[in-house]
Amino acid sequence: MTEEQIRNGFEEFVGNKKYNHFVLTLYEAFPLRDRLFFWQKQLLKDFSDEFNIDPIMFENVHNIFNHCPVHNHELKNENVPIVDEGQILPEAFYKREKDFFPMANINAPRDLERFSYPKSVDVVYCQKCREVVKNMTK
Ligand SMILES: [Zn+2]
Repeated sequence: MTEEQIRNGFEEFVGNKKYNHFVLTLYEAFPLRDRLFFWQKQLLKDFSDEFNIDPIMFENVHNIFNHCPVHNHELKNENVPIVDEGQILPEAFYKREKDFFPMANINAPRDLERFSYPKSVDVVYCQKCREVVKNMTK
């Protein structure tokens, strides 16, 4: 199976909703987590068992699932500034994030009042998500 076939097959196998959750969970923390959650491992195992393919290793997971689940657009890497989560946008904005632009990652909001962080962090983003945000904040 090619990476694209695995993505498509996996999405079909687990369903669109779970697939989105699986991919967004992969990229919800930056720096990226160095392991999968148990339920993620289990879904991958069920999938490889069902289709009788080699187990999908953690080392390959980000290479395989490197497309935005909303836009099916290839993800890119960028180093973005860490900003204070106190200066965030209206709540209505974030309500739409999950469905319309989950992978914009224009910056990285953190609780700077309570903790200290470096000035920037490597993230993964989707250009299409960023275009949605750009249009919303115009
Ligand atoms: Zn996107």
